[in-house]
Amino acid sequence: MKEVIVAKFGGSSLADSKQFTKVKNIVTSDKNRRYIVPSAPGKRNNNDHKITDLLYMCYQLASHSINFDEVFSIISKRYMDICKELNLSLNIGEILSNIKTKIQEGATRDFTASRGEYLNAIILSEYLGYEFVDASELILFDKENKLNLEKTKLQIQSILANMPNAVIPGFYGANISGDIITFSRGGSDITGAIIASAVNSQLYENWTDVSGFYIADPRIVNNPRNIDTITYKELRELSYMGAPVLHEESIFPIKSVGIPINIRNTNQPDDPGTMIVNDSHPVNYAENITGIAGKKDFTVISIEKTMMNEEKGFFRKLISVFESNDISVEHIPSSIDSISVIVSNSEIHTKLDKVIEEIKIYCKPDSIVSYPDMSLVAVVGRGMINTKGTSAKIFTALAKEGVNIRMISQGSSELNIIIGIGNKDFNKAISAIYEEFKTKKGEK
Ligand code: ASP
Repeated sequence: MKEVIVAKFGGSSLADSKQFTKVKNIVTSDKNRRYIVPSAPGKRNNNDHKITDLLYMCYQLASHSINFDEVFSIISKRYMDICKELNLSLNIGEILSNIKTKIQEGATRDFTASRGEYLNAIILSEYLGYEFVDASELILFDKENKLNLEKTKLQIQSILANMPNAVIPGFYGANISGDIITFSRGGSDITGAIIASAVNSQLYENWTDVSGFYIADPRIVNNPRNIDTITYKELRELSYMGAPVLHEESIFPIKSVGIPINIRNTNQPDDPGTMIVNDSHPVNYAENITGIAGKKDFTVISIEKTMMNEEKGFFRKLISVFESNDISVEHIPSSIDSISVIVSNSEIHTKLDKVIEEIKIYCKPDSIVSYPDMSLVAVVGRGMINTKGTSAKIFTALAKEGVNIRMISQGSSELNIIIGIGNKDFNKAISAIYEEFKTKKGEK
């Protein structure tokens, strides 16, 4: 059977002609890289603009009948420069001018935004000598503009069956009326994942500008090591807390069929990156934690009431206060006569006084207090289940640094330990835990 790799390249990997050259080297160095999914050109430096952002701007201006020539000319120049520097004979000017006319004539927001990927895929297909297949033919949305995964997979299978290679723009598809529909921002990751699962690829490569995930945030700890292997579930636990490298929804089409995802660095193609694998992947005992992530700014509402455990309906009444105020709850650690509800500050924001009043009325607690400055730190690792002493190591490390622990919660899957600490101790706590686990077992 032929091996198939689907490779998605993010915006920074295709930001200018130099990056296109790197991408071509990567694609041609493995003939199994057959289906390529590009994003729109991203930023070339910190002061630069993402093409998608500029396209949204064009749409915004056009929809208020404001001239958008200036913004559109920045977009045109980016694509023209790429074509010129790569010596492509493609008439990109004509394609750009057609797009501009459509925006002037009232093209939709999604159509306008999708043109960043559309243009980049046309250029990349020309440069690689691969077929261009428009995502509007493959990624199918229903009447309500919801992705129809079943139909999409069948369509991909039938269209790509006889194509040895193809470039397919990320981020969008079309509904049954033929209107262009985009995924949420960063959605080219989803396109790549859908194609990988439809063609039953051996691997889904996601090329970006970092060599995978770090064990801890590099803005907090110095030079953290990379995570070589992480399971889908562990990634969920970590991404919920930290900045995502990968669009969350891109895991789902892949997970059900167990295709591994490899996060790779276009600028350092020899780095192996991070492999995201099936949850049943055997544990690597050399590492008993996989990663540490954290988030600041949670509020804890602590309630005490003697005999609360015997009072039927107490928990329901408490939680319904949060539900009726449209607040999602993060954690609920409890003991026999006390319970804490942890919510993010952005959720409770202006509603805190009202929530406390309602809890007093419905739950009649002996006491109720709130603290607005809590951080949550998650230590994640599928190895914990079989390793003694992980929590002892974590708590000792925190105690040594004088970090006061205000809450502890361990998921029943033993995949993570979540610790609540004060915001002021956030960086200190992550660094202390990292120091404890930074060397893999067996290393010095
Ligand atoms: N270009 C789109 C965005 O900026 C989609 C993507 O990059 O994946 O959100």
